[in-house]
Amino acid sequence: MRAEDRNMCPIRIAVLGASQVGKSALTVRYLTKRFIGEYRSDTDMLYKCVLQVDGTPQPVEIMDTSASCDESSDAHLQWAEAFVVVYSVTDKESFRWAANTIQELSERRASPCVLMLGNKSDLHHLREVEEVEAKSLSLTQATRFFEVSTAESCVPLTGVLDHFLKEVKLQRTIANGSNINNGSPKQRKLSVTRMLGSLIGRHSPPPQPITELIILDKDERSKLVRCSRQI
Ligand code: GDP
Ligand code: MG
Repeated sequence: MRAEDRNMCPIRIAVLGASQVGKSALTVRYLTKRFIGEYRSDTDMLYKCVLQVDGTPQPVEIMDTSASCDESSDAHLQWAEAFVVVYSVTDKESFRWAANTIQELSERRASPCVLMLGNKSDLHHLREVEEVEAKSLSLTQATRFFEVSTAESCVPLTGVLDHFLKEVKLQRTIANGSNINNGSPKQRKLSVTRMLGSLIGRHSPPPQPITELIILDKDERSKLVRCSRQI
């Protein structure tokens, strides 16, 4: 397969974490910029979209997993190329869940690409997990780590996830043995367009919309329930 074709294979991200830590809120916030308070939580949701990663359009698939689908964790592990492991800073048990999951990932995958997020950092008065504790876990497990508040603000979360996608893409490029400094003519053209845009004050193109949302039925995982509704 040519390097360009490989790059058009979707980057697959599984969002893992205990129940109620904010996995769905965070996924939808990133993809739509909106914070929606309540979500159904009994099924996995697969979002297919095209995002700008490092200045070029990249198909991305994000699986918002459901804690009630523990039996499918093997499937998530095999399916995903990279993992966002979420806990809530207000829930110590969810931090243990995250730590165990990251440990399992490191045992079962060679150099897994993992981002750990401590969500709900706005709830200071309910905090049960100190930032330093999570930082030290991330250092021992060589994962990236950030605290975020999905409810409070979109920008930091977007920055962190954009950067993570960039890293996953870079890791893929290195694994494929391509010369990462050798940008294709198309990439060079795009960055010139962006540079011109910023010089003449035009905004960069809006993010691509979600192209498909698939609800993975809990009881019959092989059957995909395709759903065309807009979020
Ligand atoms: P999931 O079970 O991990 O998918 O969690 P949800 O996304 O359904 O969120 C669980 C609850 O946490 C919902 O009531 C959300 O509104 C709330 N929530 C999510 N993120 C935040 C956050 O950053 N701050 C606060 N205060 N609440 C949040
Ligand atoms: Mg959910």
